[in-house]
Amino acid sequence: MTNKKARNRNNFFWIYAAIFSIFLGIFFFKSSFSRPKKIDQDTFFEILSRGEVQKIVVKHKEIVYVYLKRNLSSINGIKNGQHIINGRYFISQPLQYEFEIGDLQFFQKKFEKFKEKYNLDTLIEFKNQQEYTLTKFFLDYGIFFILLIIFWIFLFKRIGSTGGGPGSQIFNIGKSRAKLFNENDDVKTTFKDVAGLEGAKEEVQEIVEFLKSPQKYTKLGGKIPKGALLIGQPGTGKTLLAKAVAGEAKVPFFSLSGSDFVEMFVGVGASRVRDLFEKAKEKSPCIIFIDEIDAIGRTRGKSSIAGSNDERENTLNQLLTEMDGFDTYTNVIVLAATNRSDILDNALLRPGRFDRTILVDPPELNERKEIFDVHLKNLILSDDVDVDFLAKQTPGFSGADIANICNESALIAARKDRNEINHEDFLDAIDRIIGGLEKKNKVIKPEEKKRIAYHEAGHATVSWLLKYASPLVKITIVPRGRSLGSAWYLPEERQLTTLDQMKDEICALLGGRSAEEIIFRSISTGALNDLERVTKQAQSMVVIFGLNKKIGNISYYDSTGQNDFFFSKPYSEKTAQIIDEEISKIISEQYERSKKILKNNEIKLSMLANELLEKEVIFREDVKKIFGERTFPDEVENMLNNPIEPISS
Ligand code: ADP
Repeated sequence: MTNKKARNRNNFFWIYAAIFSIFLGIFFFKSSFSRPKKIDQDTFFEILSRGEVQKIVVKHKEIVYVYLKRNLSSINGIKNGQHIINGRYFISQPLQYEFEIGDLQFFQKKFEKFKEKYNLDTLIEFKNQQEYTLTKFFLDYGIFFILLIIFWIFLFKRIGSTGGGPGSQIFNIGKSRAKLFNENDDVKTTFKDVAGLEGAKEEVQEIVEFLKSPQKYTKLGGKIPKGALLIGQPGTGKTLLAKAVAGEAKVPFFSLSGSDFVEMFVGVGASRVRDLFEKAKEKSPCIIFIDEIDAIGRTRGKSSIAGSNDERENTLNQLLTEMDGFDTYTNVIVLAATNRSDILDNALLRPGRFDRTILVDPPELNERKEIFDVHLKNLILSDDVDVDFLAKQTPGFSGADIANICNESALIAARKDRNEINHEDFLDAIDRIIGGLEKKNKVIKPEEKKRIAYHEAGHATVSWLLKYASPLVKITIVPRGRSLGSAWYLPEERQLTTLDQMKDEICALLGGRSAEEIIFRSISTGALNDLERVTKQAQSMVVIFGLNKKIGNISYYDSTGQNDFFFSKPYSEKTAQIIDEEISKIISEQYERSKKILKNNEIKLSMLANELLEKEVIFREDVKKIFGERTFPDEVENMLNNPIEPISS
């Protein structure tokens, strides 16, 4: 739909809404202000005796409406609706009073008596319920209801149209919202676009084969799998992989998200599943890709509020039925993605549904390099961009993060009016993605700035002089996101961490606070993030990895995730006390160690801090100029103090 059309629709909506509100207003105004005033019978007979009543209407034998005459003697001529009584002109007044009567016969008698006595021409009418509903009710409320119905039809059309695509009418609400990518579409994804993920690619390669030449497998009596579940963190390339399967097999690809099935109306989810599979069968062979399947595939019946998840369960049941229902010869393969396989219903995972589970892990060093290569292909780079360095600098990053870095660096370079993207732009992009936006206007007092500089220089100094601390890349005191300054390291990618490595990491993290204490003789709140990480590290050493001598080779970790040892402590009070003591012992030992290192290198620490204050960002080379090549004086001393240390295996 074009923008103009959408705007027109919008205008119409407001016109309808305005007309409707005006009618509604009039209706309520009329009904609340034109109500007759309530009086009692005595008052009525007094008014009647004065000859002012033109007509009374008795409704349901119990309510009497009183219509008064209006004196029009001053008006010349006789008009419609006027009549002459006692030589004066009168015109009917609207309904003015009402009152209730107990007994109609008694009232009627009294009324007739008054009429006779005062020689009145007052009329009396009777109305029963039926008469009222058929005529008056329609006149009073009919227009209102017609308007209401028109408004509802209009509103439903609008709700339906906001979804767009096949569900553009309310009547299409049960239709699936899957987006169809055809073979003829321009967007072509193949395995070449998916970097790394060799294992996963191998697994899905087979699915491509199934789709391309099913006979190869069925002629031997084998059954083609109905579905595969891709499990991995967000952004690791699950959607990309599914698209590549469709692209390679050259088959249509239906893509939708688990939440697309869910609607506020009951039964819609199941109906959408049915519709999706019907459409897919028409296009067979094809692929259905359901992203975030956990939105509907959660374990059933575990909700604490009974019946609260009925709609989701119905949708899931329908999905299971459909997957069971279509036979293997239909050639529709369902690929689903999730990052929460632990909460999926077991029924989904049983063979015959998602027979294959494919793990899509975050990329390792080599894979990151390949992903960088894919995304750098279309960028104009300067010679100083080192892909190896970038891959090393981004541990834990997903494919989507890397794609984002590449794009962000291009934007940064463009902002600086450069013709090519250089190394520093990439570093800035990484900083931006990890740390958030630079906050140049943050007000920081000079003494605070000095403290921050020493804090960061403390981290840098300690890590420079510790054998197992990660090598430094750069230090900055430019505030970013929530942090006031930061030191970036090049973490080593390793599968195992030794006790010494853990200790050195804690020591380097405490370097910031130690520097503050040595230089300013006071500590500040600036070490919060460091302390949080230090505490977690020390905790994991003692209770998870069994690296503490006193606690011994015990781990309280529960990989099933059912018992969190932080809440349900699986150890005695006495052990809890030892754990606490050991954690604080590790931390205080490392704190003293970092202070010692800094005291021995106080002059260099100050040089580094001053340089940082001057330049705001300094790199590894600047640190090297001050400290020289990395040597580890602390290591020799440490080995003499603790000749035997258990090392994790
Ligand atoms: P997911 O579905 O796992 O959340 P996506 O497949 O949507 O992640 O990935 C998002 C984007 O990240 C992709 O469009 C692609 O640009 C990039 N990406 C992720 N993994 C890879 C990879 N292995 N190779 C190349 N690009 C990738």
